[in-house]
Amino acid sequence: MHTLKKSKQIKRLEIMLSYACTNNCDFCLEADNRAQENLSLQPFALNRITAFFKKNSGKYSSLFITGGEPTLYPYFFDVLYAAKSHGFEVHLNTNGVMLSSYSFAAKVVPFIDEIVISMHGHNAGLHDSHTNNPGSFKKVIGALRNILDINPRINLLTNSVVTKYNFPYLKDIIIGLHNLGVKRVLFSNMVPVTANKKFIMEYTVRLSKWEKKAHLIFNLAQILKMNIRIFGVPSCVLPDFSGNIDDCSAEANEQYDRMEYKKGSLRLRKINRSTPMAAKTRLCRVCKKNNFCKGIFRPYYKLYGDSELKPIK
Ligand code: SF4
Repeated sequence: MHTLKKSKQIKRLEIMLSYACTNNCDFCLEADNRAQENLSLQPFALNRITAFFKKNSGKYSSLFITGGEPTLYPYFFDVLYAAKSHGFEVHLNTNGVMLSSYSFAAKVVPFIDEIVISMHGHNAGLHDSHTNNPGSFKKVIGALRNILDINPRINLLTNSVVTKYNFPYLKDIIIGLHNLGVKRVLFSNMVPVTANKKFIMEYTVRLSKWEKKAHLIFNLAQILKMNIRIFGVPSCVLPDFSGNIDDCSAEANEQYDRMEYKKGSLRLRKINRSTPMAAKTRLCRVCKKNNFCKGIFRPYYKLYGDSELKPIK
């Protein structure tokens, strides 16, 4: 049975530490995996993870810990400790719930270089309605306070998945985060997790609505001296802000290894981000960005077409 094979000069290692999650977000990309709890890394996998870190410490410069919700893995701290002991730069993607406990945060934050916390609204009503987990907003706020108290210099950012429901409130999200001391904010245009038309029409913001919004949020970011980025909107839609967009070009050729637990074994596989759920259209052929950009999300294109794209000449 397979397992941890060698690969050449890949700098990033991603580990899906647990598919379990306290939230149940409408747009979760791992919903299918979360439904099968046995896919989460089992405690016995810890020895194999630490052995892998030891053997490959020179090959990867950074470790991205994600899930599901990785902090739910019973040996989460041991993984952090092993990663730092073997020289990894550690990045954590989390829903923040566990970090709302000060004692948990105090134990783990010193071992993390960058934390990305999901925040989908500026208040409990909006955030909790996206996570389907009442009380989760309060915990995110607690987590942000704890992290900044324990290490004010940590590389901390939030990620808001943008839907039709929170799109009118992006400004409020920025102001709320500024008041807490957060300086970096990512707005991720929702990846349509299904081709279901009703779902896309209910949740997805039309590309043509982004330009006006982008002017508003980047003006505010400048006043508040915050770093805002947008993911998942092609730069032809926001030509004035191409430096602040992780459209598709930033990751077009990105390759990394992903470690995950499936069918009873710990496996390592190569991920090539040049084959995402995105599509190029005939308009892209005449666009300067064509060789770099991944295009627009395929289910969106199928439903709404490409008339909102403005190829870059
Ligand atoms: S390649 Fe296509 S989607 Fe990407 S910026 Fe150009 S026109 Fe837009």
